[in-house]
Parts: sequence; C-alpha cells; structure tokens
Amino acid sequence: SAARGVADRVARYDPRMELGGALAPELMAELGAAMAAGQVVVHYQPQVDVCSGRVVGAEALVRWQHPVHGLLGPNAFIPAAERTGQIRPLTRLVLDHALAECARWQADRPLSVSVNLSVRNLLDPAIVDDVRDALERHRLDPSLVELEITETSAMVDQARSATALRALAALGVTLSIDDYGTGYGSLAYLQELPVQRLKIDRSFVSDLRRSHASAAIVRSVVDLSQRLGLSVVAEGVEDDETLVLLRDMRCDLAQGFGLGRPVPADRLCDVVRRIDAHVPAVLGLGVPAQ
Ligand code: C2E
Ligand code: MG
Ligand code: MG
Ligand code: MG
Repeated sequence: SAARGVADRVARYDPRMELGGALAPELMAELGAAMAAGQVVVHYQPQVDVCSGRVVGAEALVRWQHPVHGLLGPNAFIPAAERTGQIRPLTRLVLDHALAECARWQADRPLSVSVNLSVRNLLDPAIVDDVRDALERHRLDPSLVELEITETSAMVDQARSATALRALAALGVTLSIDDYGTGYGSLAYLQELPVQRLKIDRSFVSDLRRSHASAAIVRSVVDLSQRLGLSVVAEGVEDDETLVLLRDMRCDLAQGFGLGRPVPADRLCDVVRRIDAHVPAVLGLGVPAQ
C-alpha cells in the first residue's frame, strides 16, 4: 500500500545521512530554508485504546520532504539540528502543525496529539512559552496535548529539566517518558517528576511473543505504571497477537505499524476508520454500532 511505501522510505538507511557524514553540514545549512519552504512536514501515527480498540490519539513525527534526498526521517536531521541551534524553530514548527491538526480533529472526535521534545528543548526555558503560545494560538484544551521526553534527556541536567517539566505540567499538558526501559535512569525520578505516562520502548514490545525476557519486562512496566498511577503505552505493536497479549497484561494504549503507520494528516482519517473497523474484532469486541 501507499502507507507502507512512505514508512519504508523513512526507515531506509542512508549512510550519507549519518551524523558527521559528508552531507550533514550542507543539509543543516538548508534546514532553515526548508522549514520556510514547507518541506518540513509532520506525519501522525494513531494511538489505540487497548480496551476498546478505538483510536484515541496520534503521535506527531517530523519528516523532511527533501527535493533531492526524498523523505528523510527525524534521525537524519534532529541530532544535527540540536547541535546547530535549530531545534527551537523546528520544535515550534512541529507544535504549530500538530496542535492545528488536533484542533481540527475535535470537530470529528476528541483525539489527543503527542509531540516529541528534544533534550535541548528541556534545557531551554523558552519551551514553556512556545508550548503556551501554541495552545493559545490554536485554542486547544491542554489536556489534549501530550509531550514526550526520553528518560535519557530528563537525566542530562536533572535540576534544569525538572524545572522545565514542572512549568510544562502547570500548563495542563500530559508528560510522558518515551522509550522507557532503554535509558539508565533510576526509578526515583518517576516520583520526583510530574510524569503521567510511560511509553514502553518498542524493542521490548516487538519481541513480546518470542522472548520471555521481553514479555517479563513489558509485564513489569505495565505493573509499575499501574502501581504508580501512570498510564502506559506500548510502542512497536506489529501484529494482532501482540495486541491481544498487551490487553491481557492490562496495558492501556498501543501504537505500532501493525495498527497504523505514520501518515500525513490528510490520510489519518482513513487510517483511523480502518482501525475502528478492524481492531475491536481482533480484541473479540465486534464492531461497535456507529
Ligand atoms: P519515538 O518518539 O519513539 O517514535 C516512534 C518511532 O518508531 C517512529 O520513528 C515510528 O515511525 C517508529 N515506529 C512506530 N511503530 C513502529 C513499529 O511497529 N515498528 C517499528 N520498527 N517502528 C515503529 P521515526 O518517525 O523515525 O522517529 C524516530 C524518533 O525521532 C522518534 O522516536 C523521536 O524520538 C524522534 N522524533 C520524531 N519526531 C520528532 C520531533 O518532532 N521532534 C523531536 N525532537 N524528535 C522527534
Ligand atoms: Mg515519541
Ligand atoms: Mg519511543
Ligand atoms: Mg524512539
């Protein structure tokens, strides 16, 4: 399908895009103009409620539609954008697109939107103004917006990022820890930071059916989340069987290629409809009456 094609191109490994690769400095010089020219776009991947099988939100994932190199995934330019001081305008662009889309979705159904923040965003107090401005500009209820940070980024400068996270939480947005289980963070920060959600890294989830160790880790993180009163998302759900296992473990939300790949905003509606039509049946719920 077309959706598969887009995702495969994003995932394709191109050595020229590596950090420090010959093309990276040139590319970074182009990024500002690319943003102004509308080449930096946002795709959306649905997040599904594991109990009902219904789509309840979408994660915003940035891409660069480059005229020569094709569709570039974030790993090709986010790290360099951080180093070259371009992460603030990039994050503002993603916030602007994502919150505008989310405001549009509300006419149809109350889907939430998740935006990824970089470590540099957390170290720059201006992020709080940028998020507040975007919420006001799009007149969006902050409870519909989730901000994702990795545990590693929260650990870089714990005092500074804790201050930023408290100020963001005070705006009323949801904060979640992305790629949970892959960092070296202690568990203490879960108590100290105003985090409401954990996203289990896809390396554990995509392995769930085959690996006892991965299954034990996923089960433990779901259990930990519940005991701490946090919600929990499994990323990297690639097949129906994994979704059913996650439901049996009482995981709250699921995201992955098996449910829906990241797509441009104008295709999200189709993906949501397809999930609504098929996933409840996978969970043994039948298709709900519309
Ligand atoms: P992430 O936030 O953990 O996002 C999930 C990544 O896993 C996405 O890759 C998504 O396409 C991919 N994915 C989702 N489901 C599956 C699955 O079932 N199997 C596999 N193999 N992969 C799956 P993507 O879009 O290439 O993004 C990579 C990372 O780049 C993100 O990881 C996030 O850390 C970062 N990123 C993306 N957008 C932004 C952004 O706007 N700002 C910042 N600062 N970082 C971003
Ligand atoms: Mg994320
Ligand atoms: Mg992740
Ligand atoms: Mg990741």
